[in-house]
Amino acid sequence: MPTALITGCNRGLGYEFARQLTGQGWRVHACCRQPEKARKLKSLDPGDGELVRHRLDVTDGLQLAGLGRELADEPLDLLINNAGIFGPRGGFGKIAYEDWLQVFNVNTLAPMRVAETFARHLERAERARLLNVSSKLGSIAANETSGAHLYRSSKAALNMVTKCLSIDLQERGVIVAAVHPGHVATDMGGRDAVIAPEDSVAGLLALAGRLGPDDNGGFFAHDGTPLPW
Ligand code: NDP
Repeated sequence: MPTALITGCNRGLGYEFARQLTGQGWRVHACCRQPEKARKLKSLDPGDGELVRHRLDVTDGLQLAGLGRELADEPLDLLINNAGIFGPRGGFGKIAYEDWLQVFNVNTLAPMRVAETFARHLERAERARLLNVSSKLGSIAANETSGAHLYRSSKAALNMVTKCLSIDLQERGVIVAAVHPGHVATDMGGRDAVIAPEDSVAGLLALAGRLGPDDNGGFFAHDGTPLPW
């Protein structure tokens, strides 16, 4: 049974990743901050797959190290750094400096730390993939409007982390990519979002399945389109 670990599974895209992967017969380590309160996740029928819930605040190094040890013998075929926050929207003259570090902590530092923690689990799998859920808002080339400085800069930095990891983990046979889910109807995406979580995640999982060595270190939209850095 292929195995995945996903962060931020309480709701939104993380929940949908867990739902679709278990439905496809995967064993899923679904991480969330408060598993006892994760009602949707608790009642998720794993179908042919398996669902194991874990407590993980991705900014908590001790929790992360503990989970790494707990899963010590397990190969991981897919690791999805999904947990993320938007932070205050701000804008020029209204930057919430006190919140910026927290946005970086969750969106940039934590995915790196998660990757370091589970590199040895990924190495054990035959064809391991690591997806960092980034955003087109993190693309420097695509930025024509400014705004959302905290979020944009954290995802731009995550894109660089992704490229570094693609080189760091190349010899271990792990393919690493940054992905943009599209503007998706979740709590973060809001009411104007045009894409359903089901469609975004289906696209991202199909993409994960066909990523090859030539795609290592790339940045892709949920439909597989390469995106500019
Ligand atoms: P949601 O706001 O709906 O969900 C965010 C998830 O991240 C929640 O499960 C939340 O947990 C979790 N999370 C936040 N902080 C932490 C933390 N410190 N430790 C562990 N988990 C945490 O967002 P989406 O599902 O829409 O976003 C998922 C990813 O997709 C994010 O990385 C986001 O930046 C990215 N993205 C989303 C887009 C969209 O349009 N929706 C567009 C582009 C990128 P809890 O429930 O406990 O708060």
